[in-house]
Amino acid sequence: MPDTKPGVILDENGLCNACRNVTRKKATDWEKRKNDLLELCETIKKKTKDNQYDCIVAVSGGKDSTFQAWYMKEICKMRVLAVCIVPHLRTREGIENLNNMITELGVDTLTITLKPSTYRYLRKKSFEDLGEPNFIEHTSLFAGVSRIAHNYKIPLTVWGEDISFEFGGRLEKKDGSAEDIMSSDVIKDRTITRWYNDDTVKKEYTYWYHRPPSAEMDKFKLTSIYLGYYVWWDGYKNYLKAKEVAKFQPRAKGPLSANILDYDNIDEKLCEINIWLKFLKFGLGRVIDGCCYHIWNGRMTREEAVKKVKALQYEFPIEHFQDFLDFHQLTQEEFWAVAEKFRNLDIWTKTDGRWRLTYPIE
Ligand SMILES: [Zn+2]
Repeated sequence: MPDTKPGVILDENGLCNACRNVTRKKATDWEKRKNDLLELCETIKKKTKDNQYDCIVAVSGGKDSTFQAWYMKEICKMRVLAVCIVPHLRTREGIENLNNMITELGVDTLTITLKPSTYRYLRKKSFEDLGEPNFIEHTSLFAGVSRIAHNYKIPLTVWGEDISFEFGGRLEKKDGSAEDIMSSDVIKDRTITRWYNDDTVKKEYTYWYHRPPSAEMDKFKLTSIYLGYYVWWDGYKNYLKAKEVAKFQPRAKGPLSANILDYDNIDEKLCEINIWLKFLKFGLGRVIDGCCYHIWNGRMTREEAVKKVKALQYEFPIEHFQDFLDFHQLTQEEFWAVAEKFRNLDIWTKTDGRWRLTYPIE
């Protein structure tokens, strides 16, 4: 990972946090971690004897959440409530994969569809002000799941990987707790209150965007964990497992532009532009994520990765661009005017009318 990404610090050998964490992963006693998780589950089950459910897994129709639901149900023998906070522009694959997950795993699923006008307005504001439209998706997901846990008295929520640990980020953690998820790199303790207005975003429209009040959460004592702390996290292996246990299908037309993976983030149409915006801000192209993941898990050499990155990184994820514009009611001109505000001129140079990274990967 380039150290232009916030939180990434290269060591004297030029290794980033995420690469150093691969060494830690290799030295971890995963059998012990699994037993720790099973023990935690036993403790939880003692509290939930009179409940319908033992834990919540947030699902989207993606490979990782399918893996999480399977793991908690089949390996940990937990009664899982799957919760889907609907991503608004779902793909055909996303819908089918979610349906297959529900049928094949046999889990109850609770779906919350957010009021479209509020969701759209907040996403647009978040794009214009932060260059990060999906901040809204993450906020409603984390807060919404806490709401449901609190409302149904379900004492455990299970998330996938700790992105700061897996991909390098601001927080370095020593345990599997996800209780600080609202401070994680996708939220950073920011809230949506700055965008309140009297029309589209009144406070009463934003129930799902805020956790229950802290005093109530403290009383309720929700345990929140990253499954990636207890199980070696590898998106590709999760994909294979999701295929095996829940008929998970990759993207029919193959990887999107600037991407090498046909099974990652394929459940909805709005996130790819959000990911692409990181390329403008941090020089972190989508292809780098996929290549790094393969390197960390021994499926690609750095030389092969550099070739892939050079070949693909300047591609634009055009496939869902029109959907993105239509959803946020933006023209192309308006989109580019906002996007260019976030281009980091410390790392980008315009030569012969084309933007290129000033320090290309070698
Ligand atoms: Zn690295």
